[in-house]
Amino acid sequence: MSGVYFVTGVDTGVGKTVVAGLMARQLLRGHADVITVKLVQTGCDGFSEDLLLHRKLMGCADFPEDKSGLTAPQIFKFPSSPHLAAALEGAEVDIDSIERAVSECAKRHDNVIVEGAGGLAVPLHEDVLTVDFVRENGWKTILVTNGALGRLNHAIMSLESLFSRGMTLSGVVFNYCAGTDPQIESDTVRMLKSYLKRAGEDAPVVIVPEVSDPENPPDVDFSEIFAGTEPSDAARTVRFDREHIWHPYSSIGNPPPVFTAAETCGTRIKTEESVELIDAVSSWWCAAHGHSNPEIVRAIRRQASKMPHVMFAGFTHRPAAELAEMIGGFLPAGLDRVFFADSGSVSVECAAKMAVQYQRAAGRPSRSRLAALKGGYHGDTSGAMALSDPDGMHVLFRDIMPRHFFAEKPVSRFGGEWMPEDFDSMRSLAQEHGDEIAAVICEPVFQGGNAMWMYHPQYLRELRRLCDEYGFLLIFDEIATGFWRTGKLFAMDHAGVVPDIVCLGKALTGGTVTLAAAVASRRVADVISTGSPAAFMHGPTFMANPIACAAGAASLKLFRSLDYAGSVRRISETLSRGLSGLKGTDNVADVRVLGAIGVVELKNMPSPSDVRKVILDTGVWLRPFSNFVYTMPPLMCSDAELNRIAAAIRGVAECPPCCEETGDAGFHE
Ligand SMILES: *Cc1c(COP(=O)(O)O)cnc(C)c1O
Repeated sequence: MSGVYFVTGVDTGVGKTVVAGLMARQLLRGHADVITVKLVQTGCDGFSEDLLLHRKLMGCADFPEDKSGLTAPQIFKFPSSPHLAAALEGAEVDIDSIERAVSECAKRHDNVIVEGAGGLAVPLHEDVLTVDFVRENGWKTILVTNGALGRLNHAIMSLESLFSRGMTLSGVVFNYCAGTDPQIESDTVRMLKSYLKRAGEDAPVVIVPEVSDPENPPDVDFSEIFAGTEPSDAARTVRFDREHIWHPYSSIGNPPPVFTAAETCGTRIKTEESVELIDAVSSWWCAAHGHSNPEIVRAIRRQASKMPHVMFAGFTHRPAAELAEMIGGFLPAGLDRVFFADSGSVSVECAAKMAVQYQRAAGRPSRSRLAALKGGYHGDTSGAMALSDPDGMHVLFRDIMPRHFFAEKPVSRFGGEWMPEDFDSMRSLAQEHGDEIAAVICEPVFQGGNAMWMYHPQYLRELRRLCDEYGFLLIFDEIATGFWRTGKLFAMDHAGVVPDIVCLGKALTGGTVTLAAAVASRRVADVISTGSPAAFMHGPTFMANPIACAAGAASLKLFRSLDYAGSVRRISETLSRGLSGLKGTDNVADVRVLGAIGVVELKNMPSPSDVRKVILDTGVWLRPFSNFVYTMPPLMCSDAELNRIAAAIRGVAECPPCCEETGDAGFHE
């Protein structure tokens, strides 16, 4: 047994100080190493009376004279919630210093018992509740209550607030007190056990008899609480995984090593092996607001308890309507006919099908193919593979894919000079095959999954003109670039060009639930509706899943209310500074930064084991592929974290080149 135990009460005055002291006492008596800490001490001047009581209960009270060990990390005079007690002294609770104090203790002691201030919903700051702070720190939570009137209600509400956040409860401690109605006491214990059982929680309920003399406390056995908090068997998960589960672009016979993710919070992924990694790829470019954003999680939780899913044929629902309206509000005027798909690839398929139905309805049935760019990436389903780089990772499946036309990828760099000949290849495709082409699709400005290439926005203006001239629809795949990733709300905004259909995905739900959308202009939708069939012929089983739509709406509210333009500008500058030193170094072919994207193109990729070593040494999660080591960090990433990311990328760039066979194709997706 070891770790940080957080002892909280359902309210003040339920005896959590006694419980914290008694727990420490048992550990000491078993010759374990333990220290107690007070999260924040209010109503006190000088040293903490609560810590003194802990010491008494632990049988080491001989230092009322030496008060050095009795000082909580934060002390305030006024007896109230910490946020108020601090405010009255013109201060704020210094959350970082609490975190530091506890982690210092955890370094020096096997067990740390942290006693909370008041209950779980007590604010530490205006916008930080104790429970969220504890969740973020991953402490093991023990809830203390007693049999006074009203405590059962508080206890169950406290438990619900833990469970609804996915936190595990290490145990409930029930204090017997003098003067409490014994009938209420025994019923409270019974009801708590029954509630835990119904909630599917097997945390123990430990009973503490009345403590009248702290110097001579009764012996209480908390071993069930200490025993129940051993870490889960991560090794078993990995063993099973290696034999039975496919991972993206990996061999199942010779699988590459994986981490066992346990929890995510903000920029961090915590693993069962107690590794904490900064997610420099935003979990494949999705977690724009950081992981486990409380507002998105709340929206998901609410929708899940109300209506997780209903078929979308014959029904609509508020989350879908709300999200579709918000999407329309983000996109340029006229782009507001929303088709919800369950993944980015499927939204690309839908966009392609819309284009074909549009041309048919417009009386041009021969136009049933698309033009796309070399170096592009549009997804992994057959239709989407068929539009991705023809010589790229999907070349194996050529025979099962529809055939399309490909233009050379533009070589004019973003921020560089426009070279008009860049457009020649696309123009000649149009001239030769105009009667066969229904639409042109591309990733505006930033080609991600295949090429990690940033090209000149003038290309998009030329493309718009060409499409208008020939009657092609223009489809922008903004699945990766949408929502500020390239520095503008959408990448199309760099060119001031509006497509006929746009695909959105990835950051749409802030990286929580899979959802994408193909959004057509009113004109395209109107023309399709005049065709035969008038219906658009697509309908996924989980179309417009309400949980996903609710997550999307919560994510878009964040995109609307936060200053992402500013943060992406900051990210861009910090990344440029952190990566520019690599230009011209031995193994580096190119360095490019656009918005919140930093790409280093290597001449030779180091071995996966060297990359893994850099990841473990730096605590930064990177997923290099092909010859690229890159970052697309969460948009709320701090400068300090960006500097660590840049250092990790430099670490990979400086590894010795190598090519070992790994069973990991190393592709982005
Ligand atoms: C990721 C991506 C896709 C595919 O999305 P999935 O949700 O993985 O199917 C399509 N286009 C672009 C540009 C992407 O980056």
